[in-house]
Amino acid sequence: MDHGLALLLSARSIGITIRADGENLALRGNLEAPLAAGAVEAIKANKHVVLNTIRALPGRLRQGQTWLVAAHKQLGEGASRADTETFGDRLDLWDKLDGLIVPRVCPIGPGGCDEQAPVICRSCGEE
Ligand SMILES: [Zn+2]
Repeated sequence: MDHGLALLLSARSIGITIRADGENLALRGNLEAPLAAGAVEAIKANKHVVLNTIRALPGRLRQGQTWLVAAHKQLGEGASRADTETFGDRLDLWDKLDGLIVPRVCPIGPGGCDEQAPVICRSCGEE
């Protein structure tokens, strides 16, 4: 996992959401919480890495959904445990990345998520 993603996920795990605001980061949540100070400091020190990670999220999610759709079709009864675990890990990661999209929109685009996909985004899931 890359550094920007690790920072975003750790911030999210303590209730801080981060979105790109032009060349800046907009942080929301309880920034006064005991664990927040260190997380906020790390994020500010790595602002450009975090910004690039946020900007790359929709592309990663589009690619990931394409991969998951194809892999899901191939996962039959003969699937190995390793293949099944890889699929599960990527499914979990996809869901975590989707949770980082702020404000909430479908990362896939105007047509929305692939209905064949084993996982869809929170935005399409709410419709
Ligand atoms: Zn969607």
